Amino acid sequence: MLISVVVPIYNEAPIISELHRRLTSALRSLPDAYELVFVNDGSADASPDMLRALVVSDSHARLINLSRNFGHQIAITAGMDHARGDAVVVIDADLQDPPEMIPELVAKWREGYDVVYAVREKRVGESVFKRATAAAFYRLITRITNVDIPVDTGDFRLMSRRAVEALKKVRERHRFIRGLVAWLGFKQTGVRFVRQERYAGSTKYPLKKMLKFAFDGITSFSFMPLQMATYLGFFVSVVSFLGILYVVYLRIFTQETIIGWASLMAAILFLGGVQLITLGIIGEYIGRIYDEAKARPLYFTQEVLGFEREVTSG
Ligand code: UDP
Ligand code: MG
Repeated sequence: MLISVVVPIYNEAPIISELHRRLTSALRSLPDAYELVFVNDGSADASPDMLRALVVSDSHARLINLSRNFGHQIAITAGMDHARGDAVVVIDADLQDPPEMIPELVAKWREGYDVVYAVREKRVGESVFKRATAAAFYRLITRITNVDIPVDTGDFRLMSRRAVEALKKVRERHRFIRGLVAWLGFKQTGVRFVRQERYAGSTKYPLKKMLKFAFDGITSFSFMPLQMATYLGFFVSVVSFLGILYVVYLRIFTQETIIGWASLMAAILFLGGVQLITLGIIGEYIGRIYDEAKARPLYFTQEVLGFEREVTSG
């Protein structure tokens, strides 16, 4: 059997040799042949040169050089498109996902599972903010989507050839791969692990990218935010109807005059806010529809190295 390991790389030069060492020793412990599919996602540092050198020195190494930075999820997609393994493992480059887990994932696959995802039991060395937002997000998304996206999983997982072929048919641009994989179905299971600290360098997911990723996750699996506009509309209508009744009552049955400016302003500003938010939500969806409608290719490769070689084991 051939095992492919897909690794997205974005400015990870300080990590690459340690990554290669640990991946190699983890994969050597298996009886199978393997290939290491590095996807350089438009790195601006020495990463592409180091990876090119790896392809020369290690017959297991492959390199897909994308034409620019396309983002983590697209980089993974490019890797899976090129990987030829009977099983394909996706792993982050920064060693937060320990390569030593791969044999465990492979063992589950041999038991007959199509998707074996790694569940983060604990996260070491990530900020409280990141842990809290991640926890809230995974709980929110399971609640408002009807896809069972396993809580606390990342993209560290193994997929069988069958699952990879299925995922390759899904070409949407705003990809939330861990959600798409859950949506595929097949036999899936999880293996627990402790998420490690980044080996070196800093996160390539600043808050802005994380938010975009979270929006992609929610919008690609749920209409809930759009429906929220309806619920909010109903709620505001009911409240304002009661308000009108009250005003009419005051006018007919009492002498009280309504000193209205403050309440009027409050109502106008509140409604204005609600309308802008709902317009914004609709905009999020329309923007994504527009992007999908253009149907551009997901990525371009500048260079693909190492795939012509025979696969070898050990
Ligand atoms: N990555 C990528 N393209 C990007 C951003 C990140 O290929 O635009 C890669 C990065 O090199 C790493 C993985 O995606 O291998 C996860 O990124 P990171 O560890 O920075 O994310 P975090 O673990 O902080 O969420
Ligand atoms: Mg990381």
